[in-house]
Amino acid sequence: MTLTDAKATLKKVFGYDDFRPLQAEVIQQVYQRRDVLVLMPTGGGKSICYQVPALTLEGTAVVVSPFIALMKDQVEGLRGNGAAAAYINSMLDASQARNVEDDLLAGRIKLLYVSPEKLVSQSFQPLLKRLKISLFAIDEAHCISSWGHDFRPEYTQLKFLKEQFPEVPVIALTATADKLTRKDIAEQLQLREPTTFLASFDRPNLSLSVRPGQKRFEQIVDFLKKHPGQSGIIYCLARRTCSELSEKLNAKGFKTAFYHADMNHRERNQAQEDFINDRVPIICATIAFGMGIDKSNVRFIIHYNLPRNLEGYYQEIGRAGRDGLPAEALLFFSYQDVMTYRQMFEEGEASVEQKELKIAKLNRMFQFAEAPVCRRKTVLHYFGEAYEQNCNNCDVCKNPPRQFDGTVAAQKALSALLRLEEKTGINMLIDVLRGSQRREIFELGYDKVKTYGAGKEYSFEEWQFVLSQMLHHGLIEIAYDDKNCLKITDAGRAVLFSQQQVRLALPPKPEEKAAEKAATAAALRPPSRTQALRDELFERLVGLRRKIGQQQGVPPYLVFSDATLEEMAQKRPITDADMLYVSGVGERKLQLYGDAFIGEIRRFVREKTDEGINVPGSTYLLSWDMFKAGQSLDDIARQRDISPVTVVSHLATMYERGELVDIHTWASPEALDLVQGALHLFEEPYQLKDIFEHFNHRFTYEAIRFAIADAKRKKWKREA
Ligand code: ADP
Ligand code: ZN
Repeated sequence: MTLTDAKATLKKVFGYDDFRPLQAEVIQQVYQRRDVLVLMPTGGGKSICYQVPALTLEGTAVVVSPFIALMKDQVEGLRGNGAAAAYINSMLDASQARNVEDDLLAGRIKLLYVSPEKLVSQSFQPLLKRLKISLFAIDEAHCISSWGHDFRPEYTQLKFLKEQFPEVPVIALTATADKLTRKDIAEQLQLREPTTFLASFDRPNLSLSVRPGQKRFEQIVDFLKKHPGQSGIIYCLARRTCSELSEKLNAKGFKTAFYHADMNHRERNQAQEDFINDRVPIICATIAFGMGIDKSNVRFIIHYNLPRNLEGYYQEIGRAGRDGLPAEALLFFSYQDVMTYRQMFEEGEASVEQKELKIAKLNRMFQFAEAPVCRRKTVLHYFGEAYEQNCNNCDVCKNPPRQFDGTVAAQKALSALLRLEEKTGINMLIDVLRGSQRREIFELGYDKVKTYGAGKEYSFEEWQFVLSQMLHHGLIEIAYDDKNCLKITDAGRAVLFSQQQVRLALPPKPEEKAAEKAATAAALRPPSRTQALRDELFERLVGLRRKIGQQQGVPPYLVFSDATLEEMAQKRPITDADMLYVSGVGERKLQLYGDAFIGEIRRFVREKTDEGINVPGSTYLLSWDMFKAGQSLDDIARQRDISPVTVVSHLATMYERGELVDIHTWASPEALDLVQGALHLFEEPYQLKDIFEHFNHRFTYEAIRFAIADAKRKKWKREA
């Protein structure tokens, strides 16, 4: 097998033109029967790495996958593309399992998905021994490591694969990249000198932003208004928040559902199915939701609360934009969340070291939310990946904070804190600095302290920004054991008493916010004509996809991804040949859904034409429709105000791209034969006149045009 075969399969089965980074390299290694370890972020395209070899190599590939729901999804997806795939797990009843076994033994299955329990079970061994196995793929391979978060004891027994099938290449895949896990995987699976492929964990299509948690609800409503109809997940820490938020959003006219552990199995299943099948676009859920869901058209993830660590954050936002289209991750944070976690950790049962680790990770998370540094840079550094540039796709890059000499501001805050005897929290400190008229301040006599009102030059929000940086610079700290009061550290004292300098940043200026508002307004302004056409057609295709999904009982994103529909909306394919040029449309999908989608696009083009809108590319279709309605070439030409020659060329183009017409009306078998035989003498694009001259005017222009169309039609049909 060569990469050329692999590429042909990629196009034919999956409808993709090119491999993503590292996919080809991995496949090459598998073809050389080497063991490989693949580390790619969620959505990076791990599946292709073993599916393409599985489909091209002789025999059956055995894929181990721990999530049963995901297994079904993958198998349905593969079958939808015409690939022979099946699964064996506890969901099958005896007769279904027997059918799969029969198919396996008859060599009819190219990809077999099995749960780890099944694979290692004694009852499965005889079957396994009778198969011709092309490769083993171990998905979610980090489950083998007891260091990781998803440890599965059965995974540790998978070492028997290498012992019993030393010649079969093993490909282990995971989205968890840390070194310890990596080493564990290679050792435990007993991989032989595995080649390790570590893809960048950057997800450039995800736009990252972080906002303080005030007025979260209003902010979310604003956000959702800017993303009408899009599918997304809102993660909440508390179960009650999930249901309450969902209800409040529904009351505002959004269509949402909720999901958490207090619901019974049936309710949870319903919520999940509604979300997957695009019946309900938005779900408010605890982080239990999303594991084992492969929905590729999730367009945003909102964290209503701070995640407990950066690993969790990255995993959760990774569920957006798997189709590679732009997607947004919006995180809200507040001190309250930090306190809640701390309390949870403290009350938890873990050992002291584990608690400390949790708190350290929480602090890193908080730091990420607060530091005025490119978000992407911060996360990727955390995962040990070098990333030096600024990403220009996060809130900090798009709207940088203003750096300034913060010594005086810090001194004011520290001095106030000292005079308040370090007995206040952040909000009270800011109120004192800003000279608030709150009653409590007078009751406590805080209006008498010397620094009362000394910090009026900054808004409440700006002080929050400044104080949180002071926290990170270690000038102050929160005494979690003393009612969360702020305390001055030694470093803080150095600033207060020894004139130690500090650099701080202020949030983006109000004018910049105005710029942001203008950008939002622009986003809400009516789009250009082209864009409007595209958006409208996209919506219609999404509707059709949902209908087909429902009829066939598959999630809509398995019919076609958002990316594929976007491309259709842009290119408006009206024939089979056009359709095959769209990324994500393979041979099987063309057979199954081509007519439905082409039909919808044609209807759209005709309607727009009737409304007097000129849709680029529609001219072929319009001539074609009239011809099919039985009108003569001359009639069509007259009505459309074009020449009959042009009409013929339109018909030829439609024929070339896959439509049927009796071409002998224009070209005799002899003309077809001779012209096609002579085409190699000319260069594309063919000049009809040259060919006309070549044959000494023996064939008409129409005959020549159709001979060329026929040659091209045969060519793409052969390649498809
Ligand atoms: P992972 O398992 O790494 O999370 P997937 O294998 O599910 O990622 O792939 C994510 C998405 O990218 C899927 O929709 C998949 O069809 C698409 N994809 C994978 N490889 C390619 C490619 N070479 N070209 C275009 N799309 C691809
Ligand atoms: Zn950035």
